[in-house]
Amino acid sequence: MEQRTNDPRQSERFPIRIPVYAREDYFGTSVDLSESGMLIRSAAKAAREGASLSVRFTLPGRSEPVVIETRIARIGEQSVDPQSGLGLSFDTRESTHRVVCDYLATLKRDRAPLQLKIAADAGRRMVTLSGVLTDPLQLSALQSMPQPILLNLRDLTILREEDWLSFIYTLPTTKPVALHDCPQSFIQKANRSPQFLAGQEVRSFFAPYRCAKCDRESERLLFVQHLRAKGVQPAALFTCDDCKLPMELDTVADEYLKFLHH
Ligand SMILES: [Zn+2]
Repeated sequence: MEQRTNDPRQSERFPIRIPVYAREDYFGTSVDLSESGMLIRSAAKAAREGASLSVRFTLPGRSEPVVIETRIARIGEQSVDPQSGLGLSFDTRESTHRVVCDYLATLKRDRAPLQLKIAADAGRRMVTLSGVLTDPLQLSALQSMPQPILLNLRDLTILREEDWLSFIYTLPTTKPVALHDCPQSFIQKANRSPQFLAGQEVRSFFAPYRCAKCDRESERLLFVQHLRAKGVQPAALFTCDDCKLPMELDTVADEYLKFLHH
């Protein structure tokens, strides 16, 4: 286990500038963000070192704001401006802390080069793609693969939809492509443009779930074959790891599952 630290100086910082609010008021703007906390520029004079402060901010590209308890770690951060720099340490016990960590993990992964890993899966060859797709030529090795092509997309990040479409269009139309473990970002792209899934079949995909009782969020894997079975509702498939009550789909089902009808 990696040791958890509460010191913002110990973990990798990302230069993310977002407004931070405290008690409904604008408190300052972040200079950087890490798993352990954030450095902000704030004109708040009442900030006292060691005091706790509940803050709210919205991560870039996300819609739900993060509300998290913090402790004011340092005042007068030299690297910013001794008058306005402020370090906030996150309370790592809060469930929203995981949202921040997941977000940063995505940013780290986005810098990783694309990798293709071929493994036998129940007698078939499954190709796991991980990293960031930045050029369709990165996938040219797949053109000579025997069909059907089975792809696991769990750790794949696609920045531009056209890169994926260019790859798909280089494959002979007779080659069926089956997709496993499609991440939420992939499903969102598929829902936005029907041609995104041309010639492909989604077999399984991730969806966001939330427990209404303890507010715990979790990503779960859904199987299309299972969903197509009569009477199976995505809302009633999983229970919360903490309280064991049924979890709710944390998005509008009709919109998130639109790609199934493309
Ligand atoms: Zn729960």
